[in-house]
Amino acid sequence: MSWRCHGRSNEELIANLQKNGILSSAAATDAMARIDRAFFVPRGGSPYQDAPQPIGHGATISAPHMHGYCVSMLADHLKPGMAVLDVGSGSGYLTAVFALMVGQTGKAVGIEHIPELVESSIKNIRRTPAVSLLDAGALSVHAGDGKLGFPACSPYDAIHVGAAAAEMPQALVDQLKPGGRMVIPVGRFLQMLMQDLVVIDKLSDGSIKKRTEMGVSYVPLV
Ligand code: SAH
Repeated sequence: MSWRCHGRSNEELIANLQKNGILSSAAATDAMARIDRAFFVPRGGSPYQDAPQPIGHGATISAPHMHGYCVSMLADHLKPGMAVLDVGSGSGYLTAVFALMVGQTGKAVGIEHIPELVESSIKNIRRTPAVSLLDAGALSVHAGDGKLGFPACSPYDAIHVGAAAAEMPQALVDQLKPGGRMVIPVGRFLQMLMQDLVVIDKLSDGSIKKRTEMGVSYVPLV
């Protein structure tokens, strides 16, 4: 299913993600259709190929099928007015997608430890329909260690982590709202598909339910 969703345009890419059952939420599909990946992939890259693309500073924008899976798994926690944290926001693509979903009354926060990427991600977002949310303060991107989360805007209905954690960062679990969900790759970067994509649900009584969705290969959360 994955890796086969290449398109010649953003529209075709999204249609292929849908056809392959990766995009299972209408709100996720709509937001990903409105944020063109071409604004997040440097010149010379292949934005509509279903594979990660280099974005400089040793980082990559994740493959479209991984973005599609993660946004779909979080969709019920990205309704208008909700708060979301995107850890390892890199190119800014997912932060922009999340911002469109939670809208003006919500809050989408990106955190990235490479300051140059924070700067370029803001430039990227400025070229998309998420610019008004950036100007209004409903979308923001910050430089810092994402393992510590971003307490100022916590708690969050949804947390996405875009790099693999060797161990579950407790600060992120703490910053999740009761009823909230986190999607996080966990494991060491040894071999392809050696990490688990873990879904953490914080129940209304504060207890944690954890399941592994699939094997994945992400760069490490450092
Ligand atoms: N989801 C993003 C980027 C994925 S690559 C996208 O699709 O564009 C993972 C990103 O995590 C990289 O940009 C890397 O610099 C960042 N990262 C790694 N460790 C981090 C940490 N401790 N805190 C914040 N960002 C981190």
